[in-house]
Amino acid sequence: MDSPSDTPPENPAWHTRTADEARAFWRTGRDGLADDEAGQRLTHYGPNALPAPPRANALVRFLRHFHNILIYILLFAALGTALLGHWVDTGVILAVVLINTLIGFIQEGKAEKALDAIRNMLSPKATVIRNGHRREIAADQVVPGDLVLLQGGDQVPADLRLVEARNLRIEEAVLTGESVPVEKSLDPVTEDAPLGDRSCMAFSGTMVAFGRGVGLVVGTGKHTEIGRISTLLGEVHSLETPLVRQVEQFGHWLAVVIVLISAATFAFGYWVRDYPLNEMFLAAVSLAVSTIPEGLPAIMTIALAIGVQKMARRNAIIRRLPAVETLGSVTTICSDKTGTLTRNEMTLETLVTARHAYQVSGVGYAPHGGFSLDGHEVDPDDDPVLSDALLAGMLCNDAALHERDGQWQMEGDPTEGALLTAALKAGLDMRLQQERLPRTDVIPFESDHKYMATLHHDHEGHGRILLKGAPERVLELCDLQRTAEGDLPLDRDTWHRHMEAIAGKGQRLLGVAVREAHAGQQTLAYQDVEAGGFTLLALCGIIDPPREEAIAAVKECQEAGIRVKMITGDHLVTARAIGEQLGMGNGCRAIAGHELETLNDAALQRAVQESDVFARTTPEHKLRLVQALQAQGHVTAMTGDGVNDAPALKRADVGVAMGRKGTEAAKQAAEMVLADDNFASIAHAVEEGRTVYDNIRKSILHMLPTNAGQSLTIMMAILMGLALPLTPVQVLWVNMVTSVTLAMALAFQPAEPGVMKRPPRRPDAPLLSGFLLWRIPFVAILLWAGTFGHFVYMEEVLGVSDELARTVAINTLVAGQAFYLLNLRLIYQPVLLGGELFRSGAMWIAIGVLVLLQLAFTYAPVMQALFGTVNLSLQDWGRILLFGAAVFIIVELEKTVIRRFFL
Ligand code: ATP
Repeated sequence: MDSPSDTPPENPAWHTRTADEARAFWRTGRDGLADDEAGQRLTHYGPNALPAPPRANALVRFLRHFHNILIYILLFAALGTALLGHWVDTGVILAVVLINTLIGFIQEGKAEKALDAIRNMLSPKATVIRNGHRREIAADQVVPGDLVLLQGGDQVPADLRLVEARNLRIEEAVLTGESVPVEKSLDPVTEDAPLGDRSCMAFSGTMVAFGRGVGLVVGTGKHTEIGRISTLLGEVHSLETPLVRQVEQFGHWLAVVIVLISAATFAFGYWVRDYPLNEMFLAAVSLAVSTIPEGLPAIMTIALAIGVQKMARRNAIIRRLPAVETLGSVTTICSDKTGTLTRNEMTLETLVTARHAYQVSGVGYAPHGGFSLDGHEVDPDDDPVLSDALLAGMLCNDAALHERDGQWQMEGDPTEGALLTAALKAGLDMRLQQERLPRTDVIPFESDHKYMATLHHDHEGHGRILLKGAPERVLELCDLQRTAEGDLPLDRDTWHRHMEAIAGKGQRLLGVAVREAHAGQQTLAYQDVEAGGFTLLALCGIIDPPREEAIAAVKECQEAGIRVKMITGDHLVTARAIGEQLGMGNGCRAIAGHELETLNDAALQRAVQESDVFARTTPEHKLRLVQALQAQGHVTAMTGDGVNDAPALKRADVGVAMGRKGTEAAKQAAEMVLADDNFASIAHAVEEGRTVYDNIRKSILHMLPTNAGQSLTIMMAILMGLALPLTPVQVLWVNMVTSVTLAMALAFQPAEPGVMKRPPRRPDAPLLSGFLLWRIPFVAILLWAGTFGHFVYMEEVLGVSDELARTVAINTLVAGQAFYLLNLRLIYQPVLLGGELFRSGAMWIAIGVLVLLQLAFTYAPVMQALFGTVNLSLQDWGRILLFGAAVFIIVELEKTVIRRFFL
């Protein structure tokens, strides 16, 4: 490779050169680069990616975990014990510090990795021309000299010198801060033109708002404008969410209160109860440490990260972490129809011309089947109008069909695939027809104008414009209809009746029309089409059956108190029929886009309440619908795929973009991307969102009462002037082992069985609800009573040593916590029914590990030396387990009372 590689990578002012100069320089012909040349350039210039942001190294990340109030208190305690000469205690405390930070570090690493993996699933794509073929490649494989195709919704993958631009407008806010899209053209500009005025260039990272274009890559990776200012694009995931922040703040306040209480307890114990200074000092520290729920934010983050991973496995990719929480409280899901609620495998079934209504047989994209009239097979060649309509449908079309291993595969828009298949069924030859009537220009389909038009010329120079689109639009532009006897005036009423009849069967409608064009016309503009004067050829009815899993998911959402609304560009009657098939209610009220336009805000709010189907809508309607729903207090998820859907997706509480057919613009505006474009995946994501929220509540429901139980035990002993039932290092031990085992297990809980049978959580409901405020002290007192009671029984009734009484007390506390974990498998429901207790492996692993740790703690000679524990008898264990079982039964009874009287 000679010339291109000799370029200085520095800015060669491509905006001052013509497109031809740029092509010549990069040696790029009409067919784009050849594959091997592209390969060489990739090796030479490197991948088209910006260097990853520097990540703090492992040591720094590890050290960051020491920046935490619990650790400061512990380090303070370690210093105190060292000064007092209690080396064993110092060692134990330091070990606890180390283990705590290590666990935090490892878990955070795992959570970040999970999120990284998900970010990589969304790497952008680019469409290039290589070897004369259009190809979709990963954006980081684009090399200088590549020809890149641009259309509305695309993200520009590299810096491009434009070589073709049709109505091309690009939003360059990332670079220039200017949010109004800039009109692009091909003319060079002066060298000193600011970035925003370099209209013949398209810059990496900007978004195509409208139109189409082709650009030649002149800069990749860090040699792009965005690379120079080294701003990283794309979303940066943060591990923080509002809920985590809320709990963290709550934790900080609680910590302050606890430190004050500990100080007061210390003062009381030392001066009033005459405990020795060092014992009291350590007791006060352990009191503080065991009460502060420092591990909670970490456990919440892990629960969120696990939720995100599970959602990804179920095809819902989260782009912004807070969406996981919001999903749990969604009350309305507004979904597109085509491809999301339906299969998007389209088959043309009905074709109506001015004289005849044909039925087409066969399913899917295999061109096997034929045409019939009133049940009798016919030869399509016998009706020239039918042939004209099929030909127009085939040429005004960008889809392609291939046969691979006996299977017919369709590439492109399924609506167009259906027309193509029908034309092949009639024996039309695509290649032959394209050669006979080559395409000169095209206006691609967009949801806003709802039609596609192409300009063709035959070899005698006769031009014609082919038009296909939503029949209302097409009918507006027609004044004639074709018959075998020639073109006659359009009979609108009859066509409208046909439309109602076809749409009533749930079929998607499409009109096909034609108009002559001048031999000299080389381009096709909107005005050319909208001038009208077309001749209607036919009306097509295309079936697109609902997805089975969408029917089930709609039902599931309804049971979960979530309203599903279908917002579609399709015909009102078709949409209503599909809505009925999906179980959205028989005769469900449907409303058309143009009707929405006549409604004021108050009327619109009523309409969104009453209707479930919105037809013939445009992206602007979607935005108004979201706003109306939100004004009524709904938490709304909204799907979208086009560039114009971005505002509605941004506005929705959870914007959901389609992973397959969605544009980059829609994906970037969304909180969540569906890998399979399937409605059922939204329902799954809601289920996971609710589960994450449940698990967070469960972690709180476990951590706060067990912490409070521990501290009550210490505090009451001091207040009553008794020997401490747990020594300070024992408290540290319990606190550490239970939070890494038991509380962590709660972050991994599978969904509760009724999770999609209850109404959505109110978004403004506080995390610490009335129930939590009851349950936390209730269990805390239960645990305290058992631990303290058992300790006093051992000391006062059995008269055993302090060591034995403490070993018994500590195991009693741990047993109580472990049994209470079993209760928390379900928050309100009984856990003994339906094998619920065995649905969470994590719970049993945690309990297993805890049992081993406690046995080591009780019996291992080193532990006995470090913690002052002694061997226990079988009777001791018997009483300990009895207490654990009692906690379990009492909490199950409490649930029964709560269910009966409060739910
Ligand atoms: P949804 O919004 O649920 O995805 P949709 O796919 O039906 O529904 P649009 O894509 O906006 O919505 O299509 C609206 C109408 O435009 C269709 O009902 C059809 O009549 C027409 N249409 C769809 N695709 C094409 C196409 N490729 N060419 C011409 N007309 C089309």
